[in-house]
Amino acid sequence: MSTGSARALVLAKPRTLIGYELTVPEHGDDDAVLRVEACGLCGTDHEQYTGHLFGGFAFVPGHETVGVIEAIGGGAARRWGVMAGDRVAVEVFQSCRECDACRAGAYQRCERHGLGDMYGYIPVDKPPGLWGGYADTQYLGPDAIVHRVPEGLDPAVATLFNPLGAGVRWAVTVPQTKPGDIVAVLGPGVRGLSAAAAAKEAGAGFVMVTGRGQRDAERLSVAPEFGADLTVDVTGADPVRALRDATGGLADVVVDVTAKAPEAFAQAIALARPAGTVVVAGTRGGPVPEFHADHIVYKELRIVGALGVDSAAYSAALDLLATGRYPFADLPRRVVGLDDAEGLIRSLAGETSGPPPVHGVIAPR
Ligand SMILES: [Zn+2]
Ligand SMILES: [Zn+2]
Repeated sequence: MSTGSARALVLAKPRTLIGYELTVPEHGDDDAVLRVEACGLCGTDHEQYTGHLFGGFAFVPGHETVGVIEAIGGGAARRWGVMAGDRVAVEVFQSCRECDACRAGAYQRCERHGLGDMYGYIPVDKPPGLWGGYADTQYLGPDAIVHRVPEGLDPAVATLFNPLGAGVRWAVTVPQTKPGDIVAVLGPGVRGLSAAAAAKEAGAGFVMVTGRGQRDAERLSVAPEFGADLTVDVTGADPVRALRDATGGLADVVVDVTAKAPEAFAQAIALARPAGTVVVAGTRGGPVPEFHADHIVYKELRIVGALGVDSAAYSAALDLLATGRYPFADLPRRVVGLDDAEGLIRSLAGETSGPPPVHGVIAPR
């Protein structure tokens, strides 16, 4: 039994997105079908597209999905606290809610799902295939985690639940940022702006955001509206000196959300005050050049890796988006249909002329 067909884009191999018609499954008692309204794009999307991140199988990408529940079983409705017609955001990870990792809240390491079974990265061969947001319909399996989107929040803006959730977890929860803290955020993309806003919201006394060159110029120029007290282009200025000049000291908390910038790690260490905290959240994509680990010893730094987001941070992010306190709705944003998705992803990967939009979104319908 099926309820019609869905349009989806399948990444068959790197740089090969193909339009598919997939059958929309009949839902059971403990699962649901989502009508996708918007799917946000981030660095992971272009790493998948270019093949930096490729599992060797065809899949429907898209892991920052917001949509409306079209049909849902009674069991799922009770467990998730939502019903048909509700607008929800879908978490990347799935959780069995039963294993030791899930019960401890660390469902990134769920024994049944974990890193190999994330939305937007599941083989299209696994029925019903609709495991990602590059499609007009997404399947919500029994172990999906959804959050109701606050009333009145635009779906394209609501896709920021993912990067802003990361900002909350990486810039506040993990480093235990306190009111008055000096926070340095490395990387001015959506995640960096989100980290800045989250830190400010937590009461940070001073927030610096760094970027690199022309590609980051527009992002740095909007950072003050997202809580940045100081922005620094590291191609033209030394961020350590800039921070000292502005605050008289170094950062209590450094959040490194750069992508493919190995040298940023050394900068993060240099920006941290003695006994400060450095959160490493972006992946380096290679070894760190010219780095002396002794700095960690002399400064007695706390260095913490951060992977993914948790439910509490996602909820906080959706609530913060709904307040409108930071102009996430006005971020330079490009929203395209499925037919133009590939061009947008290539632009975000820096493969087309001109700087990419700060926020890219696919609206599949
Ligand atoms: Zn993402
Ligand atoms: Zn589990």
